[in-house]
Amino acid sequence: MKSIVIVGGGVGGIFTANKLASKLASEIRREEVSITVVEPQDRQVYQPGFLYVPFKELTPDVMFKPVSKLLSPLAKVEREPAAKIDMSAKKVVLQSGKEVKYDYLVVATGSVVKTQAFPGFGEAWHTFWVLEGAKRLREALRRFNGGTIVFSVTSTPYKCPVAPYEFLGLLNDYLMATGLRAKTKVIFTTVAPHLHAQPQINKFLEETLKMWGFDYKTKFQVNAIEPGKISGSEELKADLIIAVPPHGGEEVVIKSGIGDQAGWIPVDRYTLQIQAQGATGAEYAIGDATNLPVPKAGSVAHFQSEVVSSRIAEEIQLGYSDTRYDGRVICFILTGFEEATVVSWNYENPAKYPPPPSRFFTRLKDMTNYSIWSVLRCGL
Ligand SMILES: Cc1cc2nc3c(=O)[nH]c(=O)nc-3n(C[C@H](O)[C@H](O)[C@H](O)COP(=O)(O)OP(=O)(O)OC[C@H]3O[C@@H](n4cnc5c(N)ncnc54)[C@H](O)[C@@H]3O)c2cc1C
Repeated sequence: MKSIVIVGGGVGGIFTANKLASKLASEIRREEVSITVVEPQDRQVYQPGFLYVPFKELTPDVMFKPVSKLLSPLAKVEREPAAKIDMSAKKVVLQSGKEVKYDYLVVATGSVVKTQAFPGFGEAWHTFWVLEGAKRLREALRRFNGGTIVFSVTSTPYKCPVAPYEFLGLLNDYLMATGLRAKTKVIFTTVAPHLHAQPQINKFLEETLKMWGFDYKTKFQVNAIEPGKISGSEELKADLIIAVPPHGGEEVVIKSGIGDQAGWIPVDRYTLQIQAQGATGAEYAIGDATNLPVPKAGSVAHFQSEVVSSRIAEEIQLGYSDTRYDGRVICFILTGFEEATVVSWNYENPAKYPPPPSRFFTRLKDMTNYSIWSVLRCGL
């Protein structure tokens, strides 16, 4: 019996489990293969939905889904956190002490949003990178009656690199609709040397922020956030402060010694095999958890789950696999409530200048929002 263990049952982990269940259905039914997902949460939250929460409520059926309704019945679940990944002994130790042996391992533990990095979360400053923060930001926006809004990216990498600009597009529409635009100054800062690492997307974003009349500052290091003030490269006074807090890898990655200093797992950029001490070639990492220079995005976790599930299934069925990840990325960029555009690139082909924002791409993004759970459930 070959045992496949997936640590983390978020977007990447569930896609991987369901794709493997479909590729290896016969082997699982003959009890030659087993799939186990280690995931402590009993429901998943649709993180891209956090973007909308400050402005409008998405329905609970879009925002939440029980893991049991997403996972193939051919996969088993261990409903507790993994405490240690021991690659030299090919086992995962759960919090209870239970040991789960593996022949193939996929680590899909995502990333941690460090809201404790700056005191005053939810009061002195807000973020929509966690659901509770998105709700608090909605209340703060309702109280906002004009003045200065500062939005700061405090550290990279972070989940969904275009989400700050999508928020600014929605904010622009919101300020217009509420009659506050003329009395509001918006300043965007980022610690990065640019708005986006892809030059054509960067150009598009610079032009778009200028068109909205928003100021922006790059290479802006945030050292402290206090009520009404954000300080670092310079001091900015603000009536509302929004920030992207630092992100890092999960504790289990750090404790197991399989991550870099920030807790991101080094992997081969094509095979997605883990490159850490004790790795045997049978261990993979995907999605936000890796150190790859691609966005931390659900679409990336999806593409990588296809590669890893194919590699494992082919190795079991054929004894070898040549399947490789080509660095594929696709992102929608909302530029307001009614308009969006889309960008894509891979390791070899940089992103082109985005097509003009239109309602068509907004509808496509809406379709993704409303179909994601079915797509995940079917492992498409
Ligand atoms: C505001 C916002 C907007 C976004 N917008 C988009 C977008 O428009 N498009 C897009 O593609 N992406 C978007 N994303 C990013 C997307 O949500 C993530 O990149 C995606 O969820 C990553 O998938 P993952 O499987 O790597 O991690 P996750 O989906 O976060 O799953 C990780 C799982 O690992 C589990 N876990 C953690 N530690 C352990 C442990 N010790 N043992 C067992 N399990 C563990 C967690 O419980 C979790 O279920 C957005 C994110 C945010 C916050």
